[in-house]
Amino acid sequence: MEIALRAAAAAARRGEVPVGAVVTDAAGHVLAVAANRTEADCDAAAHAELLALRAAAAHRGSPRLENCDLWVTLEPCPMCATAAALFRVRRVLFGAYDPKGGGIEHGPRVFDTAPHLHRPEVVGGLREREAAGLLRAFFAARR
Ligand SMILES: [Zn+2]
Repeated sequence: MEIALRAAAAAARRGEVPVGAVVTDAAGHVLAVAANRTEADCDAAAHAELLALRAAAAHRGSPRLENCDLWVTLEPCPMCATAAALFRVRRVLFGAYDPKGGGIEHGPRVFDTAPHLHRPEVVGGLREREAAGLLRAFFAARR
């Protein structure tokens, strides 16, 4: 989560919403690190999680990330939660909860309501204060 937080902080310095994501394998080795790139790529779907999942799968040479974990500083949105299920990650571990945009513990609760999808284990609230603090500082500076 430390690496994801650092990626999020670096994203904020580039003017991106500070969300960072890391994919690790079963042994805990880092396969991919990403942060939001929606502004840089002019891509509204360039969320940290999606970028990290794609990079990890490319690195592994397989679209399946079985036994891999997705670490992300903010509760994934419905799109990224669905992507985590499609990539078949073992666990999704996130920092801050996102009552407005989250798709796991909030909103559509993707893993609970789409029974056809692989269902990763979920751990929320890891280093929540730091993850939420990055977002708060970023949006406060823009007001
Ligand atoms: Zn997302």
